[in-house]
Amino acid sequence: MKKNVTLYIVVPCYNEEAVLKETTKQLKEKIEDLISKKKIASKSKVMYVNDGSKDKTWELIKEINKKEKHFTGVSLSRNKGHQNALLAGLLTAKEYADIVISMDADLQDDIHIIDEMIEKYTNGAEVVYGVRSSRKKDTFFKKFTAEGFYKFMKIMGVDIVFNHADYRLTSKRVLNELENYEEVNLFLRGIFPLIGFASEIVYYERGERFAGESKYPLKKMLSFAWDGITSFSVKPLRFITMLGFLITFLSVLMLFYSLIVKLTGNAVSGWTFIVSSIWLVGGIQMLSIGIIGEYIGKIYNETKHRPRFIIAENLNELK
Ligand code: UDP
Ligand code: MG
Repeated sequence: MKKNVTLYIVVPCYNEEAVLKETTKQLKEKIEDLISKKKIASKSKVMYVNDGSKDKTWELIKEINKKEKHFTGVSLSRNKGHQNALLAGLLTAKEYADIVISMDADLQDDIHIIDEMIEKYTNGAEVVYGVRSSRKKDTFFKKFTAEGFYKFMKIMGVDIVFNHADYRLTSKRVLNELENYEEVNLFLRGIFPLIGFASEIVYYERGERFAGESKYPLKKMLSFAWDGITSFSVKPLRFITMLGFLITFLSVLMLFYSLIVKLTGNAVSGWTFIVSSIWLVGGIQMLSIGIIGEYIGKIYNETKHRPRFIIAENLNELK
């Protein structure tokens, strides 16, 4: 059944004029090779998404599109950030393709595992995650912060694939479901595990950026991590409730402690009352904020309008 599949490779580009030529050269080779091996249909393409670049990126994409039949592009109205650019590309590409692979423009993701990704798709996987087997080329700081982030996300109860960024193959079917996730604060690598369906992992060695600079300075990385946590988890709110309970409990201990101090005669008059009431009032306030937080958490989950379930198979339809 899964024969002659049309593949689209979606590549978000923000100020990438320095790498586009080389990326095009390598992806062209890859796509032509896959076509000649009959692994993908001859109408397969690379789709560049220009994310409001300020340099010549879009001009370059248009030029490449004119010269190369396997290359096309879309341009966003302005810079919307990596995740939104990626979403725009995925949802546009799925209209023309059976499978879509997303990757960065800078060739840090090893394009040679594409064959294996397609193979896993042919064998039944609807999502194939590209996972970094090691981070030898990353600086210590990047490795430490990135891996710490994945671990922290797990603690926060977010289901993500360890060391998987946005290099993945998705089937048209999965992308059709992605369309139902209407959230504005996008964190795609958290959404795909939520969508479900059969998935596989392919490991690869992540290389260095081919040219140009990282478009993810520390500030953007932190805000991305913060988005990931706050768009997927209400645990920080629950933490406040727990803290409230803890401090209220401590206030009872403080009452006993201050009474002991008073009875042994070491307290200034009024001290007992002040100390125990500070703890009690603090605890009650924290608890109240936590309870309000619980409701905000509910509102937050409701406003997402995420689909509550996805039907993978319907036997009734077969009749
Ligand atoms: N990118 C984008 N919009 C932005 C920032 C980045 O489309 O606002 C693209 C960028 O062109 C690249 C990908 O997102 O293709 C990943 O960015 P980068 O390689 O700079 O991130 P890093 O690998 O350093 O984390
Ligand atoms: Mg990169």
